[in-house]
Amino acid sequence: MTDRTDRTRLIASATRRGKGRRPVAPPVERASTLLNDTPAAMRDERQGPVYGIEDLAAARELRDLLCDLEGAADAWLVPSGLAAVTVPLTALLRHGDEVLTTDALYGPSRRFLRRHLGARGITTAFHNPGATTDDILAAVTDHTRVLLIESPSSLTFEMLDIPALTAACRARGVLTVMDNTWGAGLAFRPLAHGVDVSVQAVTKYVAGHSDLLMGSIAVADPAVGRPIAETLEDLGWRVAPDDAWLALRGLRTLPLRYQEQARSARIVADWLQARPEVADILYPALPGSVGHALWTRDYTGAASIFGVVMQGGDEAAAHALMSALELFGLGYSWGGFESLITHETGQLAARISPPTLVGQLLRLHVGLEDPTDLIADLEAGLTAWRAAIN
Ligand SMILES: *Cc1c(COP(=O)(O)O)cnc(C)c1O
Repeated sequence: MTDRTDRTRLIASATRRGKGRRPVAPPVERASTLLNDTPAAMRDERQGPVYGIEDLAAARELRDLLCDLEGAADAWLVPSGLAAVTVPLTALLRHGDEVLTTDALYGPSRRFLRRHLGARGITTAFHNPGATTDDILAAVTDHTRVLLIESPSSLTFEMLDIPALTAACRARGVLTVMDNTWGAGLAFRPLAHGVDVSVQAVTKYVAGHSDLLMGSIAVADPAVGRPIAETLEDLGWRVAPDDAWLALRGLRTLPLRYQEQARSARIVADWLQARPEVADILYPALPGSVGHALWTRDYTGAASIFGVVMQGGDEAAAHALMSALELFGLGYSWGGFESLITHETGQLAARISPPTLVGQLLRLHVGLEDPTDLIADLEAGLTAWRAAIN
């Protein structure tokens, strides 16, 4: 199976499951408990889970398929993408340890480091989002236990040299945890590049339909996985069977949606880049953009989300642009079938070294609509923008 492509494997796993006449998709098993025929059977682990906190059919199949995708020895499901970041950190860090991470980290992950871990004697050091590998390694101390990687980073999309970082961290006994939501387990394989723990918000591209929240945590080394599995067991978390079923359905078509959305995103980004109202596009897949060299070297595809730095303007002009759009939803999140737009509202100011941008920062997520229609919609948005700044 291993030399078949992702597209094929993610689908073949459905048709190769089970025996006899059966549905293509697993049943949605809703159960707090499971009944047994005999007292002895209650202790027979070969018969599968005895209690609903263990994974039922859809969750088991989803975990197996995520293992296949990530090249993982094991993978776990958690109730949100944020939990996929917080659980490994909870499992791997102790009082006195330090986390090293990017100043451009996803906001809620940053809040967890500051508030939750900070209150428990675990400190965080931040490196510049555009730091070189040497700069980052120079910030490693005797207390650094985990390098938390997010690449491309949130909002400004800087890229890190992950193979170089993971090799150096391994040599120094520092564990690496990577938030790979942008790569979706597809365009970039953290575990194959030496990352110890690969996490992603399944909420985004895997689920793909903006109808559920979930995260996944994957490891190649069972020794790294053990404290994570125990932490999940201790915290008592599981995902709902219906959500696991929907995420599994999303995963079957992930490669096609991801590829098609990247194709459209590139068309839209190219168009925007040539516009006089736009100063810069922050999109590693775009030639000349931030992180393009590393993206070309390490990635086989791109997410359909990017930053748009406008030429000057103010909040009112950004709002005028957004209000003129009919196809882009005004909403956070990304990875679903629908196009979305947000306006940066202060996350940059929370950084230790906020970037100096020449104008307003918008974030576009390109969905599965026809890119020609999306461009016409943005044309109307730019007309409203011009009217608002004059
Ligand atoms: C959305 C997101 C998360 C969190 O996912 P939720 O399911 O919304 O909790 C984590 N990391 C990144 C990079 C994200 O974009």
